[in-house]
Amino acid sequence: MSQIDDLPPLREVVRTHGLSATKALGQNFLFDLNLTARIARAAGPLDEVTVVEVGPGPGGLTRALLACGARRVVAVERDARCLPALAEIAAHYPGRLEVIQGDALATDLAAAAGPGTVKIVANLPYNVASLLLVGWLTGERWPPWWASMTLMFQKEVAQRITADPGDEAYGRLAVLAGWRTEARILFDVPASAFVPPPKVTSSVVHLVPRAAPLPCACAALERVTAAAFGQRRKMLRQSLKSLGGDAAALIAAAGLDPTQRAETVPVPGFVALARALTPEPRSG
Ligand code: SAM
Repeated sequence: MSQIDDLPPLREVVRTHGLSATKALGQNFLFDLNLTARIARAAGPLDEVTVVEVGPGPGGLTRALLACGARRVVAVERDARCLPALAEIAAHYPGRLEVIQGDALATDLAAAAGPGTVKIVANLPYNVASLLLVGWLTGERWPPWWASMTLMFQKEVAQRITADPGDEAYGRLAVLAGWRTEARILFDVPASAFVPPPKVTSSVVHLVPRAAPLPCACAALERVTAAAFGQRRKMLRQSLKSLGGDAAALIAAAGLDPTQRAETVPVPGFVALARALTPEPRSG
């Protein structure tokens, strides 16, 4: 694909607006239109959807989302240098692109998106990617304000999100993501696809919320997984002592084997521990 719109090529946009990549902002830009279109398509139909994009940068993925028919894109970008380039895209797609300059971590993205079906699609800045994901997974309201997330992470983080019990990458992130969503890696993206290339391979992950996750209080789940995976090679009867209470009673109440290690406990086991720790959980 050589052309998805009549806007100038991204390399030219970056040159014109002096958008040299800044490491501190996790800036690794995508110029390959085939790839940005592939990510946009991976989010599924977009014509009736508001897309929330974190970190549009010079707008490569933003353009693909709009060219793929996204009804509306709300893009939150921290780097003010990108605003003129994004304004050109907004002018090209009147009324369909809203750019918010700010830190996505400090922005109420649900309010910015407004009503209707919302999908989050982003080539995330890697320095805050996990933090953003955890925020989207731990909201009080469930089902959440977003209908799906299609996100680029470092491959190693993608594996930590989608890992199964027994996998080396299985840990707190996999339990949280597995509890509330169905998450899978769609495809890998080589470092060479980015400008500048990062040191590692990346992966696009697709997450869909579970309609009814096993009920437990999110804060309790986070506490038990922090304790259990804080000493992942130790048996539960040892690692859960850091919670401060009677670890043996907690494990018995959850119906687990005290000699099990965190890395072999499936999500329902951690939910049972969280429920035993906080006996009257809020639902979902
Ligand atoms: N979407 C563009 C692309 O695919 O070429 C750029 C992706 S780049 C990996 C990450 C973008 O996130 C950068 O434009 C960076 O300035 C922006 N960014 C970094 N931290 C941010 C934050 N806390 N909130 C919003 N944007 C942020």
